[in-house]
Amino acid sequence: MRPLRTVLVANRGEIALRIIRACHELGLRAVAVYSEADRLAPHVLEADEAYLIGAPPSAQSYLRSEKLIEVAKSAGCDAVHPGYGFLAERAFFAQAVVDAGLLFVGPPASAISAMGDKTEARRRMMAAGVPVVPGIAEPLNDASAAKAVAAEFGYPVLLKAAAGGGGKGMRVVHAEAEIDRSFAAARSEAEAAFGDGSIYLEKYLERPRHIEIQVMADAHGNVLHFGERDCSVQRRHQKMIEEAPSPALTPDLRARMGETAVAAARAVGYRNAGTIEFLFENGEFYFIEMNTRIQVEHPVTEMVTGLDLVQWQLRIAAGEKLTLKQRDVAVRGHAIECRLNAEDPFRFTPSPGRISTFHMPGGPGVRVDSHAYVNYYIPPNYDSLIGKIIVYGETRSQAIARMQVALSETVIEGIKTNLPLHQELMRDAAFQAGGTSIHYLEDKLAAYARED
Ligand code: ADP
Repeated sequence: MRPLRTVLVANRGEIALRIIRACHELGLRAVAVYSEADRLAPHVLEADEAYLIGAPPSAQSYLRSEKLIEVAKSAGCDAVHPGYGFLAERAFFAQAVVDAGLLFVGPPASAISAMGDKTEARRRMMAAGVPVVPGIAEPLNDASAAKAVAAEFGYPVLLKAAAGGGGKGMRVVHAEAEIDRSFAAARSEAEAAFGDGSIYLEKYLERPRHIEIQVMADAHGNVLHFGERDCSVQRRHQKMIEEAPSPALTPDLRARMGETAVAAARAVGYRNAGTIEFLFENGEFYFIEMNTRIQVEHPVTEMVTGLDLVQWQLRIAAGEKLTLKQRDVAVRGHAIECRLNAEDPFRFTPSPGRISTFHMPGGPGVRVDSHAYVNYYIPPNYDSLIGKIIVYGETRSQAIARMQVALSETVIEGIKTNLPLHQELMRDAAFQAGGTSIHYLEDKLAAYARED
């Protein structure tokens, strides 16, 4: 195998910067790509070389797979790191990278496609003995088929896009009378977002937590888990706050979920970093999906394990063996991450534009992963994440107190951000008392809307 010396970072924003840092710490060269909207982005400045790949819309730049591979080859790269989003979970891209004689810093294309279709993933997981949310594992033909299945499992049910991602193509249905409309809505949303309108159905869990397990697999058959993250603070099925460990788990459950996640990864021949997502309710856990890439919230795991997940991704792609054993992975203390988005904190409309003041927090146990700076212009073309504040504490309450101080030091002006909502959640009694179910934030926001 060719040695790993130069990595194409096929992404932008904070994750591109994160990957470039890991490359440099390992003595590797990092090659960046950028759209016309990102000429002044830090990932362009920090990389050893950078290439313009097109116009601001993603379809004309960061999603141009052939262009990315062409740049990787002409710049003498040995590997491509896809980050998250964009092409990270596109099996065809992983395969095209490998076919071009480059290393893909991620799983084999076969594992991405097995996990990318939620119905196939459910079938594979059931065969491997991994518990899944009650429901079916085949697409439904039409709304009347959905009615028959829903009657069997009992309302409420969740219609879900087989090709789903980012919470799109999902509809909760509380009664049969709603199915026709919800089925049509889920199908057209899925068709528009994924070019695939296949819909299946799961039981809708009413008070679950979202708990996910970080896994890491090398090319030599070693699969480890790095503990869990609790990502139950969500809005529209999108995570806002993540923490590790989960305040809801016992050591026994933690061990069982970890072993189950390792079995799930093995069942699809997984390699590199991945996350097995579960819903957890009444002491039971159920697989919902696998994210076959590094995740936004990986820093909380890094804080409590002391491991650098992105460095491990690169080392594994280069063929290195995982030198640690499961018993060497120790979770210590508590970490919390708040995602900072350029959006109205209560209306959630995007707020692109120029940042006039940008002051980030500091002090012990505080980490900031961001690509923003004073005078940075947030282009309207990409997602609204402008950074993440991550804190570490010896205990959960110390971590919350530290996050409160960190948020109070943070000043971002010129655009709207969700900072005030994070401040409010860090003061929230239910969050402080041990966390919430995935529906908590939505319910809280709905209550505000009623007070208005
Ligand atoms: P996506 O791939 O679109 O992100 P997921 O399957 O990962 O979809 O689900 C996203 C979120 O939707 C979960 O974190 C959870 O909040 C909610 N969700 C998914 N399945 C269920 C379910 N069966 N019952 C209740 N909520 C669910």
